[in-house]
Amino acid sequence: MLYQRSSQLFAEAEKVIPGGVNSPVRAFKSVGGTPIFVKQAKGAYLYDEDGNRLIDYINSWGPMILGHAFEPVVQAVTEKAKLGTSFGMPTELETQIAALAVSMVPNIDKIRFVNSGTEACMSAVRLARGFTKRDKIIKFAGCYHGHSDSFLIQAGSGAMTFGTPNSPGVTAGTAKDTLLAKYNDLENVRSLIEANPNEIAAIIVEPVAGNMGCVPPIKGFLEGVRQLCSENGILLIFDEVMTGFRLAKGGAQELLNINADIVCFGKVIGGGLPVGAFAAREEIMNYLAPLGPVYQAGTLSGNPLAMAAGKAMLESLNTDAAIFQRLEEKTAYLEAGIHRVLKANNIIYTINRVGSMISVHFDASPVVDFQTAAKGDNETFKKFFHGLLQEGVYIAPSAYETWFITDALSYEDLDFTINAIDNVSKTL
Ligand code: PMP
Repeated sequence: MLYQRSSQLFAEAEKVIPGGVNSPVRAFKSVGGTPIFVKQAKGAYLYDEDGNRLIDYINSWGPMILGHAFEPVVQAVTEKAKLGTSFGMPTELETQIAALAVSMVPNIDKIRFVNSGTEACMSAVRLARGFTKRDKIIKFAGCYHGHSDSFLIQAGSGAMTFGTPNSPGVTAGTAKDTLLAKYNDLENVRSLIEANPNEIAAIIVEPVAGNMGCVPPIKGFLEGVRQLCSENGILLIFDEVMTGFRLAKGGAQELLNINADIVCFGKVIGGGLPVGAFAAREEIMNYLAPLGPVYQAGTLSGNPLAMAAGKAMLESLNTDAAIFQRLEEKTAYLEAGIHRVLKANNIIYTINRVGSMISVHFDASPVVDFQTAAKGDNETFKKFFHGLLQEGVYIAPSAYETWFITDALSYEDLDFTINAIDNVSKTL
């Protein structure tokens, strides 16, 4: 496959956009080469500017759970657009989608809509700090919660207690309030809490991590974190930006049967439009302005086009009783196929999967946290990625990303993908 026009478009983009992209992960930096420029997409397929058709395993990094240009979403947005695209005033639609989300997700009474996952997590932490009157938060190395300052803290060896900024622009003052813990290491969390008594407002966690590849919580980890939070007056924030409305109707809370105090959403909840949300029980949510003292706002929050798309998406998920089972079966089928061909070609690998989130790591040992995820062989991944691209299969251009399976994938598409992986494996 040729990607000539994409290369030209990228060169043009680089002149006027830093790195040619509006979000760094799109830039193919860790795999080399130039990004693919998309022209359009439908169902499970992307069509690029060179006229190639690619089977899409990124799906806008998660939202396209029912496929690209999903008809009910397209129709809802088109109809709404004719009636005005933004008012900055309340609409009935906002209440309808809020009520729907509250009915689908366990343990929440009220929800507020924002414009991205970043905003959702940032606001959730501010709310937790205001509610508990404490400053510090615990986050886990390898978990991503958007690009707000408090979250751009990465683990370095020995930097587990006090965070250090890993992005210039994040002040040391901000970084010191973010404590780092190891994912799946309950004792680490316990010792951080003991070392900072009555200072920790919240623990924020991806209940199934998706930003170091897919890393499932080991048994007892989140249950233990939940208990530690309850015992120490700490709010547990589940960042369900990836898992919400994907792993189950009620997200990871439902799948894992663990209640969080605040839940963050993004991606699926907007049906592909820029939407995020955060939700909690009434007592916590009433702490937000205009009812309470914690300020949070947005001109475009609850935007009619975004709400129309999100509502159409959630309604489709809510009324399709078999959707999550189908996603599970399709992803399990893909997983079995990948195991088969990678084994047959003597590739060293580990596959992690929870529901329709799956990732292939090129290392033999279990991937349970950031350190073990980082052990994967990036050179092999690069070849794997570019090989698949040549076969017409598009996975995320980084070894540390999850593949998001869409219901629009047919079993023929999955067989095509497994066959492509077989072909590529022979060249690794
Ligand atoms: N939280 C998680 C778990 C995410 O995966 C992401 C984005 N990939 C975010 C937050 C940030 O969302 P956004 O990119 O919409 O700001």
